[in-house]
Amino acid sequence: MAKYVYDFTEGNRNLKDLLGGKGANLAEMTNLGLPVPHGFTITTEACRHYLAEGSVPSGLDQEVAEHLEALEAKMGRKLGQADDPLLVSVRSGAKFSMPGMMETVLNIGLNDESVHGLAKQSGGNDRFAWDSYRRLIQMFGKTVLGLDGDLFEHALDELKGRRQDTDLDSGELQQLVETYKGIVRDQTGKDFPADPREQMRLAVMAVFDSWNAPRAILYRRQERIPADLGTAVNIMAMVFGNYGNDSGTGVAFTRDPGSGRQGIYGDYLQNAQGEDVVAGIRNTIPLEDLEHLDKQSYDELVGIMETLENHYRDLCDIEFTIERGKLWMLQTRVGKRTAAAAFCIATQLVDQGLITMDEAVTRVTGDQLAQLMFPRFDGGAGKKKIAKGMNASPGAAVGKAVFSSARAVELAEQGEDVILVRRETNPDDLAGMIAAKGILTSRGGKTSHAAVVARGMGKTCVCGAEELEVHTAEQRFVAPGDVVVSEGDVISIDGTTGEVFLGEVPVVDSAVVEYFEGATEPQDDLVKAVDRVMRHADRARRLGVRANADTPEDAARARRFGAQGIGLCRTEHMFLGERRQLVEDLVLASTDAERQAALDALEPLQKSDFIGIFQAMNGAPVTIRLIDPPLHEFLPDIVDLSVKVATGQATDKDRKLLTAVKRLHEQNPMLGLRGVRLGLVIPGLFAMQVRAIAQAAAEVPGAKPEIMIPLVAAVQELESVREEAVKILAEAGVEALIGTMIEVPRAALTAAQIAEAAEFFSFGTNDLTQLAWGFSRDDVEAAFFSHYLDAGIFGVSPFETIDREGVGRLMEIAVREGRSARPDLHLGICGEHGGDPDSVRFCHEIGLDYVSCSPFRIPVARLEAGRAALTESDSDTR
Ligand code: PEP
Ligand code: MG
Repeated sequence: MAKYVYDFTEGNRNLKDLLGGKGANLAEMTNLGLPVPHGFTITTEACRHYLAEGSVPSGLDQEVAEHLEALEAKMGRKLGQADDPLLVSVRSGAKFSMPGMMETVLNIGLNDESVHGLAKQSGGNDRFAWDSYRRLIQMFGKTVLGLDGDLFEHALDELKGRRQDTDLDSGELQQLVETYKGIVRDQTGKDFPADPREQMRLAVMAVFDSWNAPRAILYRRQERIPADLGTAVNIMAMVFGNYGNDSGTGVAFTRDPGSGRQGIYGDYLQNAQGEDVVAGIRNTIPLEDLEHLDKQSYDELVGIMETLENHYRDLCDIEFTIERGKLWMLQTRVGKRTAAAAFCIATQLVDQGLITMDEAVTRVTGDQLAQLMFPRFDGGAGKKKIAKGMNASPGAAVGKAVFSSARAVELAEQGEDVILVRRETNPDDLAGMIAAKGILTSRGGKTSHAAVVARGMGKTCVCGAEELEVHTAEQRFVAPGDVVVSEGDVISIDGTTGEVFLGEVPVVDSAVVEYFEGATEPQDDLVKAVDRVMRHADRARRLGVRANADTPEDAARARRFGAQGIGLCRTEHMFLGERRQLVEDLVLASTDAERQAALDALEPLQKSDFIGIFQAMNGAPVTIRLIDPPLHEFLPDIVDLSVKVATGQATDKDRKLLTAVKRLHEQNPMLGLRGVRLGLVIPGLFAMQVRAIAQAAAEVPGAKPEIMIPLVAAVQELESVREEAVKILAEAGVEALIGTMIEVPRAALTAAQIAEAAEFFSFGTNDLTQLAWGFSRDDVEAAFFSHYLDAGIFGVSPFETIDREGVGRLMEIAVREGRSARPDLHLGICGEHGGDPDSVRFCHEIGLDYVSCSPFRIPVARLEAGRAALTESDSDTR
């Protein structure tokens, strides 16, 4: 029979799939002998069953009852027992951390009787008991009964007036409980459930349901967390941080999640429950100050942090509570960190002997490296600093101030850069946080919601800028010196220093980019760490990395970034600008002689293009793709020409051009006369290009051209181009591989035949995706992809990450069949996917020889190729 419930003593950290991250790590800490309150975990499997069937699996209620009994026996109290109640918390915990996205209910077990028992237990602390009870109704009302949280907030605000919530006395809190119960009755038509077991049962289901809350769905999509994992539920004996000033709750990191530096980092809030810290409701004190408040707990915590780091061999983050001087661990996990910290920590752990360099490479991701390549503010003068907050998530962001999540989304959709400014954020702000360039808050610490979520997303964030008075309703904030910033005013925020500036501050490249450019020797710790990781990734990877580049400048940059060749040099860009004229002549040619004259005029220009690129690549291979797009793209616009003709302003050439443009007009140009089809239909066009390549190669010592034919669907197309090209190369005495793009599904399916005429394949996954799905690559993303993403038809755009099941399958077929026909077939990819981390891994897995991507993505591809090689059997490395 399936087992749906695990006591904390039964699990361990390897059971994240089943117990979620929180449950698995609570079990791990329990096994390490750390002070964890007793409890148990309901598995993700139970959640998946509930979400699929709409009811809990049979046997679950019984299992929960047994575990609860065992918990009651350990605690010597019964859940909600009137004179001496056991209270429990019910918390979500998915495999991958989703901070604040799902539900938690604390203080379960309280009712009109047990509240007195709790007061007695606490030595007559009535205030504490009633505060705990009102919190239960509030959380339960919002998360389990789905009531508007503001109803409770308003009632609380009304009661406390200008006072802090800690100033309310027990009589007032008792009165608040009555008000809250009234709200529940009015809104739901039923009483707040007094039965503790019923409270627990409903809370468990609410946590299950919260897996599909809109913000959780949005977060998963953003973080690429699979939608079908479900969450576990952790039920744990309550410990209280709100007993009084000898109690409190906090969050800590075993080292700085912003920079990676070792030390004690965290926030502590006296006389509070966990949610108060993360929500940033009251301002916290730095964790170091706990040493003066409660030295014994502080020392114990520091010792535990060391134990956890050594055990997990990584940065851990921790949630803890101190109940009347006794420390309790409520959570730990390998902590989220900034991209810079990830690199620094990985190499520090190597130096501490805790991990190997192989592991260090797997501890960082291509996305993190990409973040480090973001620009930063120019250190120069002229900046008007208006405030300083905490440097919660690094980077430089400039945009118009907006004060609500909805407005951020609205303006971003209109193409504006915005900075979301809030007093504090909560999970409902997620959409605005995604839409904004950066986030600025006036309250909350580095562990506040805004900070945690922004860091996870790699978004610039400054939080806790307390000097700012944020007036959300009036859509403005006031900075010291009466500086007023209203919606639409431009501000700049520096997530690395925590500074806030008025107006637009110019930005410059990152130190990491400068290092890749070769302009600086690794100096600062971060660049040194990146250097070490990249060198190791390069040693480990099997995939080659090439660049998509069609100018000598791009080619040179690509080489500096580590490209081992050019995988795609698109030649169509070379026919634009002043050369359009010559293309027009080519199209208008009515005799062989006229056409040859146009081609003869283009040839030396093409030759000089290729010379520049061969020189820049200094002997590395250069895959040159013969002209691909439809010819009419190089011709004047049909409407402009028609207007000219209609208004009598047209020249003779214009009239001829209009006829030609009309002749060439296609309903579906991407499915029309382009690629190899163009080469076959216009005699001499491909031959001119091949001759220019051959002549250029003959002039540049060491040049290694490879000639690539686009849009081939049948081997016959390729054979006929190949025959002509081979002849031209032989005449020039130049050697070059001749190959094809695989970007039409038919080519993938007939790869064995095509390989007979191709020495290499390069997957054009842009077209292959377009043609496999039947998606117009120029239209669909704007037209309806957001709908498809919302509907879960796919989790990520197939134009961004290779759709393994469809497009990927075509690639696998082509690899297998191509290599069976020609074992030394060289295989690469040059679609946009070549620089996407997940797709690079896929290319490694199916055995390609190289990936090719835009110059800026080259370091990302190098790193991901290294990680793919080092984690071959580990599908969990994210
Ligand atoms: C492709 O289709 O993936 C490709 C690289 O070619 P282009 O984007 O130029 O069509
Ligand atoms: Mg293509």
